[in-house]
Amino acid sequence: MQPIPIPAFTDNYIWMLHNGQRALVVDPGEASGVLQALKEAGLTLDTILITHHHADHTGGVAELREATGARVIGPAFETMPEPLARVSGGEQVQALGLTFDVIDVPGHTSGHIAYFCGDVGGLPLVFCGDTLFSGGCGRLFEGTPAQMHDSLGRLAALPGNTRVCCTHEYTLSNLRFALAVEPANAELVAYQARCEALRARQQPTLPSSIELERHINPFLRTTEPAVVRAAAAQAPGSGSDPVSVLAALREWKNVFR
Ligand code: ZN
Ligand code: FE
Repeated sequence: MQPIPIPAFTDNYIWMLHNGQRALVVDPGEASGVLQALKEAGLTLDTILITHHHADHTGGVAELREATGARVIGPAFETMPEPLARVSGGEQVQALGLTFDVIDVPGHTSGHIAYFCGDVGGLPLVFCGDTLFSGGCGRLFEGTPAQMHDSLGRLAALPGNTRVCCTHEYTLSNLRFALAVEPANAELVAYQARCEALRARQQPTLPSSIELERHINPFLRTTEPAVVRAAAAQAPGSGSDPVSVLAALREWKNVFR
C-alpha cells in the first residue's frame, strides 16, 4: 500500500491509500478526481480524513459522502461539514486495517490535526495538511508563531523515514525562499535540482521525508546558526529564541517573491 497523490485545483493533492478494494482519502477539496480514481481502480471509498476546515480541504466531502457513503473523520475543534467523527491529539483512528495517531498541530488553523501511521507498506507516513510543507510551513491564519513552532517540532520528532504527505505542491517556491535563508546549504541546493527536474516532467515532489525536511526546511532549523543569522538580519531583534526566528521567517516568507 502506497500513498497516491490525486491532483486537485492548481496545486492541491488529495492523498489516497487503498488495499485493492477499499480506499481512504485525505482532505478532498473537490470530489471529481477522487470519484474518477475510485472508478478507474474499482475501489469503494471507506474513509475520508480531514486535517482542517479550509474549503480546499473539505469542499468535496459532502458530494463524496453522498456518492459513496464513506465515513468522515476530522478535527474536534473546527467547523466541519457534518456529520463526522471528531478526533484530537492523542486519539487513534483505524482505517483499512491501519492505525493512525492523531497529532494536534495548531498554527495554520487553530484546530489543525495530522494523522501519523507507523507502517504503511513498510514505512511510516504522516498526513500533515497545511502545517508542514516540503521546504516550508503553512501561513499563520489562526495560530501564533509559538503554536506553529511546537506543531512543527512534533512533526520533526517523528521517525526520519516518515513520508511527509502534505496537501500542496509548493516545494519549488518554498525552496527559493529556503535558499535565500541558507544559500550555503549544499543539501538544499541538491534537493532543489532534484525537485526542478521532477516538476519539469510534471511529477510531484512529494512525499518528502522528515529526515530530509530536518536538513532543508528553514522552519525546522530555527536553532541553526545560519538560519538564526538570516532571521536576525531580516527582523532586527529576532534570533534570541527559536519562536522569534520562526516568526521572522514566516513574515519574511509572506512578502518574499
Ligand atoms: Zn489551509
Ligand atoms: Fe490548503
